[in-house]
Order: sequence, then structure tokens, then C-alpha cells
Amino acid sequence: MRYGFAFAFSAFLWGQKVMGYDLWLDSVSFADRWWRWRAGVVIAPQSASTLTLALRGYTIDSVWWGSTSLPFSYNDSLLTVSLPSLLGLQETIWVAYRGSGVQDPGGFGGLYWGGGSVFNIGVSLYISPHSYGRAWHPCADTFGNKAYYRFHLRAPDTLTATANGLLDSVEAAGPGWRRWHWRLSYPISAYLSGVAIGKYVAAIDTFIRAPGDTVPIQYWVRRSDSAGTYTTFQRLKPLLRDWEKKFGPYPYERIGYVGVDFSSGAMEHATHIVYPNLVISGTNQYDWLWAHELAHQWFGNSVGGTQEAQIFLKEGFATYCEALFYELFFGQGRYFDHLRGFLERTLRALKWEEGLFPLSNIPPEHTYGIATYQKGATVLHTLRHQMGDSLFFLGLRAYNNRYRHGLVTLDSLQRVLEDSTGLSLNAFFDDWLRQPGEVHFRIDSFGRWGSDSVWIAWRMSLRDKPSYSTPTRLTVYLRGAGGQETYSQFFTDGGLAGVAYVPCSFAPLVAVLNPQGEVADATTHGLRWQKTNGSFTLPATYITLRPIGLPSGDSVWFHVAHNWVGAYDPGALPLSVQRYWQLDGVWSSSLALRGFFTYNGRPFGSGAYLDTLWLNFSEDSLALYWRPSVREPWSEWPYYTVDRGISPTDYQGRIIADSLLPGEYTLGKKVGGTTALVAFSPPAQTWQVQAQEGALRLFNGSSTGGRYTVYDLLGREWARGWLEADTERLLPLPPALYLVSTPEGPHRVLIWK
Ligand SMILES: [Zn+2]
Repeated sequence: MRYGFAFAFSAFLWGQKVMGYDLWLDSVSFADRWWRWRAGVVIAPQSASTLTLALRGYTIDSVWWGSTSLPFSYNDSLLTVSLPSLLGLQETIWVAYRGSGVQDPGGFGGLYWGGGSVFNIGVSLYISPHSYGRAWHPCADTFGNKAYYRFHLRAPDTLTATANGLLDSVEAAGPGWRRWHWRLSYPISAYLSGVAIGKYVAAIDTFIRAPGDTVPIQYWVRRSDSAGTYTTFQRLKPLLRDWEKKFGPYPYERIGYVGVDFSSGAMEHATHIVYPNLVISGTNQYDWLWAHELAHQWFGNSVGGTQEAQIFLKEGFATYCEALFYELFFGQGRYFDHLRGFLERTLRALKWEEGLFPLSNIPPEHTYGIATYQKGATVLHTLRHQMGDSLFFLGLRAYNNRYRHGLVTLDSLQRVLEDSTGLSLNAFFDDWLRQPGEVHFRIDSFGRWGSDSVWIAWRMSLRDKPSYSTPTRLTVYLRGAGGQETYSQFFTDGGLAGVAYVPCSFAPLVAVLNPQGEVADATTHGLRWQKTNGSFTLPATYITLRPIGLPSGDSVWFHVAHNWVGAYDPGALPLSVQRYWQLDGVWSSSLALRGFFTYNGRPFGSGAYLDTLWLNFSEDSLALYWRPSVREPWSEWPYYTVDRGISPTDYQGRIIADSLLPGEYTLGKKVGGTTALVAFSPPAQTWQVQAQEGALRLFNGSSTGGRYTVYDLLGREWARGWLEADTERLLPLPPALYLVSTPEGPHRVLIWK
């Protein structure tokens, strides 16, 4: 297996239980990119004779307890201290250290020094364990250790020193220096602790929850950004008001952002969100980003997930909250647009299998991947639809209330949602969160039933999912010849197919399941009223339509479902195993509808993965197939050409088809004469790309030699070479996440230390 290496860190290795940190910065030199600290580490009673703390990039000067100096060893990763016996209930072990800290080799977490500024980012995207408090202070560096923090930051008096929590006081600390005392009232994990020193001014605001009940808001920014700050964050207070209704009270004593010279993202340190200067200066284009980090204060910071494999509990929620932001300020349409974008990214991720992992158990090299963020958001969206708004948000409030400043797993989430609402969510959590893969629903046929209802025959298929039994709430949109329309909902019985009856007072011509993506199954939808001739593209459907001959003043309603599963009922035909289209609409025979169907079988690059699992033959043999309904067999569409570009084997291009009719369309291999049936299975991987401790192992099990290249996620090349058939190579590499390209496509590998 490509990811089949053992991957386990004991909590002990990364530090025992720590209850608090008392961090004293005594000196800092920006010219030398260096600082000196005393860290008081408050430990719980323990029987162990040693204390192990994580710390990277420093020199340890001394370790002591009371007036007793303690023996220690340090290997630039772990500080191990021999503890005296007779330790009391709560003891403070002091560590004096100095140095420059470290940065995540992948360019995200760690310590950032600038001319006259320094700040940390508490998560390493590319090193596991991802918690990265050790870049600036000795700590129990796991998601699961929450501790109290106090900071006493001595800095030149021309600068401001900020950290988590509230500022207690600032005092003179020698000529030209001041000391800033900060304190956070709630325990946090080490990765959420933050410090930033620089030339800051505070843009101040207040969130008034109720008369006499307020939360201070502080944006620590460059003076030049202070005017634009209020514009950038103008929606923050209305959003807080809405989210307090949905999730419960904001969990900390301050809302805080600090501007930094960093453009690779933002980080949700509790009350001290590191935010790029670039996007503070008056723009609203990145509102989703500050909203995402704000959402973490509830999801991830206050209610903290203990397991890296369930990082979805932090990132899936925060990503879903981006969509809630758009829903609140721009309406439901924008909400659904946003979710459709997430769903498309999830469904297209195939070669790396990112969309397919179960959210309960994400492999370490995909911790910060598409499944965690985008799939996580679409599953929460589906859960909301399944539970209904009032119960869903009731459940989220109960979750935040019960686990406020605590720690959770996926099971905790399920239990509290069930306890607070009385719903049984076991099937949903199993199918959508504990199992990999995707589910797909479709309507096979429908018809009138009496004068006031309609029967719907639906069917389901599974993509890389072992089973599915959730009775699922589906939305159906019905449209009549005269433009009448109605929405209804029904529950499936959890089986593979069934018939549902929904109210409808007219004879429907079109029935669309989950038209706005109400359930994030393996379908992306586009709906359009087209009033003119000319091309239009529906997002996430990979088709462009062009009506020709539409009389002026006339209009046509179109619906396209892009189904991310193989065509149903292929019979003996070599049809795509990855996707098919459903085209609906009502248009007269005088209108000629042209369609451009995109195909892409490339294993990487933009637009890739659509047809990767089956398009392994010359594009000249591609064909477009069609059937008007489930009752008729698939047949080749008579009017189309393959616009394959110059190369017949670059596996990208489009099929241009004319005189389209409503029905299902899919791609396949042309059948005729001597053409054999295609073997529709992905080619076996003969190269092995495996992580080992501090090294990458490559094995070329194919019958020919081949080239490989190793990149990091910033695109920097680390190695390249030629590997003969049946040989292996060991490449020593620093711990990070790498992309390895081989003749069989890209692999993603996490090297650990
Ligand atoms: Zn996040």
C-alpha cells in the first residue's frame, strides 16, 4: 500500500501533561534574529522521574526547580529533564533558553523574523505531529494538552508585544525597553499560543452582546493599515451576533487579530489570529478567511479535537462556516454556490484519493487536504439538511456548551448531537464520516399519481464506499410544461432504490433531485434561464451549451446534472466509469442546441482526474453516448466530433455535439469493426513510493526504467533521477510533505522524523 507505513506518536514522546506556561521574554535582537526566554512549565503531579518537552531551534542554558538546578538533556527536538522526588501537587519547572527557533520546511508554521518584527504560526502543515508550539517555547506539543498561558514580553519601547488573552499591564523594563504582561483565562493547546512583536497600533472595537455584557475587539495592525482595518472587518460584529445564536457564546475574553508580513494564509491562535497584512487594508475580498479563523475560536480552539486523524473537527467546521458567512450576508444562493465549489473539489480529487478518505481517519499526509476541508464542509452541510436547521444548530450549541474549552473526538460530536436532539445519527455518521467514498442518487423515472401527487422512482450507487444505509432526506424539484414548479422532500428507506410519492398539482415534465446540492452526493448541478443565443457554461458541470435559433424574446430553461459516477446500465458498452451528464429542459425542434463536453484523463494539472480511470486509448476512439430515458438503451449520439487538439494521447479536449435532446449523455470508447472492449480498470501501480524515517524509498517494479522527480509543496525540487526496472533507491530527505512524480503520476508522501 502506498500509505501503508506505521504512523504513531505516543503522547509521552511529545511531552507529559502540562497545566500552564509562564513565559518570560527577557531579550530580543532583530538584527541577529535571536531571543532569550525563561519558561515556567507548570506540571501536574506525576510519578515519572523525567519530564519531556518539545522544543526546536534553541540552546538550553539551564533548568531548575525552586532553587535546585536540574539535570537535563536536549537534542534540538526534545528536552528531557530529570525530576527530583517529592514534587508537590503542582510544580513549576523553569527552563532558560535562547535561539532563533525554526520554520516549517514547507513554508507555513514556525517562527518568522523580519526587520524589527517577529511572530509565530502554531501549526506545521507539512510535519507531523502538526502542533508547532515547540518553535517558540518548550511545551507538551500535542493537540490534546490544554494549558493556561501567561506572557511577560520584554521588547524595545518603540515596539508592541502582543500575545493571547488580555493585556494586564505594560511597564518600563530598563532604558529603552518595556515589558508587556498578557494573560489568557482559558486553557489552550500549545499550537494555539501566539506571540507577535512589531510596530503596531491597535484598532479597537467592542462587541456588545447585551447591555453590560461586552467583548473587546482588537486588531493589532501597521499604522498604515489602521484606517482600512474597519472596512475589512465591517461584517465581523454582525457575524458574531449570528454565530452566537447558532453556536453559543464566543468562548474567549477578547476577539483579536494581528497583522503580519505573511501571505501563505492565516492562523487561528486563540484571541490572537495571525492575519496577512496584505488583506487587512480595506479589502473585503478575503472576508471568508477572517471568518474561517473566527469560526475556529469555537471549533478547534474552545472545542478541541484530540486526534490529528480527525482534524475535520477543526477544519471541516471552519470551512463550512465560510459558507455560513456567505449565507448570512449574501443569501442562500451564494451559500449553495460556495458548497458546490467545495463539492466539485472533493469529487474531482481522485488520483490522490483525497476526496475518498473517511473523515474519522484521515491519513497523516492528507491532514490538511481536500477531504478535511472541502469534504468536511459538504458533509456538515448535508448533516444540516438531514437534521433540519433548528435541530442542527441546537445540536451545535449543545456541542459547544458541553465541550467548552474541552477536548472531543468524532464520537463526542455524534453523542451530543443525538442527546440534544433525540435523533439517531448512527447511520449518518457511519455512512458519511466513518466510511470512505461517495454516494450518488438519481431519479430513474417519475409520473403522475392521481390529481395531486407524483411518484418518483429513485436509485442509488456507491463510489468507493462499502455500503450505505442512511434514510436520506432528498429534495425534488418538479417543473411543468407551463413553467409551474414546486419543491418537495422525501426520505429514502436507506436501500438501493425505491419509489417515493410527493405532492404536485401539475403534470411535471422535469424532475431534478437535490437541485441546489441540498445533499452533497456525487452530483453537481447547474440551472439556467437562457434568453439569448450564444454560449454559456454552468459551473462544475464541464459542459458549455450554445442555443442556436432561439427567437428573440423567447427563453429556455436548462438543467444539467454532472454525475460523478459511471453511467448506470451500461450493458456491454464501454462507457465511462467516472461520470455522465443529465440534460433537462424544454425546447422546440426549431432550436438547435450545441454542447461542448469537456474530457480530461490526465493524472495531474488543472482540470485533471475527470476521466483518469478509463481514458487510456487514443482520443480518436472517443465517442459520445446518449439515452433519452432509463427505459431505453444507450446508443452512440449521431452528431458529434472529437476536438482533441494536436495530440491524440494528451487525454484532454472536448466533444462537440449538435442537436442535443434532453436525456443522459456519457463518454466512452467507439464501438465498431475491430475495436475491442476497453478494460475499464485503473492501471496497476508498479512503482512504489514509500516514506521511511527521514527518507523516501522508491521502487520501480515495472519492466522499463523511468524518471522520477521529488518536489515539496512550494514546487522546489529536492531530487530527480532515473531508476532502472526492478531496482530501488533510498533518498534521505528532511521531514516534510513531498510530491513525487513517476511515470505513473504524482504521489504524495510525508517524511517524518
Ligand atoms: Zn482552519
